[in-house]
Amino acid sequence: MSRYVGPACRQCRAEGVKLFLKGDRCYTEKCGIVKRNKKPGQHGDSKRRAKMSEYGLRLREKQKLRRFYGMHEAQFRRFYEMATKMGGQAGHNFLQLLERRLDNVVYRVGFAVSRRQARQLVCHGHFEVNGKKIDIPSYLVKAGDTLSVREGSRDIAYVKENAEVAGSRSIPAWLEVSGENLSAKVVALPNRDQIESPVNEQLVVEFYAR
Ligand code: SF4
Repeated sequence: MSRYVGPACRQCRAEGVKLFLKGDRCYTEKCGIVKRNKKPGQHGDSKRRAKMSEYGLRLREKQKLRRFYGMHEAQFRRFYEMATKMGGQAGHNFLQLLERRLDNVVYRVGFAVSRRQARQLVCHGHFEVNGKKIDIPSYLVKAGDTLSVREGSRDIAYVKENAEVAGSRSIPAWLEVSGENLSAKVVALPNRDQIESPVNEQLVVEFYAR
């Protein structure tokens, strides 16, 4: 299955929430949701909408979360299956696994302006974890891991620019960043309160468990 490469804002408008897919623009007045918060397409501003079924609600929550992390359905579902085998609350496990993805961590610590850019940087081999090059966006970090920009990639202009502003951004408490050294540490795995997410994960669990 191919990855969605169409306009990012269209995905937010389809879901009716900000999914923060475009970096800095998402925080400005130019955001598609701020400027034009209606469904995409010819009947996007139609007031006549059928009431959504329970199934529809769960499906939408699942799609929102999948789009938020920019994943294919097959891989997303695999993460869900992993979460159900971990014991404890499947919804929390699921979110925690999604947060532990290397591309997400690169984004969360501010070395990339969006998850999309983070994925590209990781795929191009610009990062290492505990001194070892990792070019797999879905790689799962663990507590205690150190992530850094590789020696040969430290001069890439936008990586440096992102890292410079990273220090001024709010970074989740489970991560520590050193913009100067272009590195970050996973202090602990995130608990539910530390995960910013636009969905009710319980509905996503119910969607897959049906
Ligand atoms: Fe979504 Fe960002 Fe576009 Fe706003 S600017 S609609 S948050 S992708």
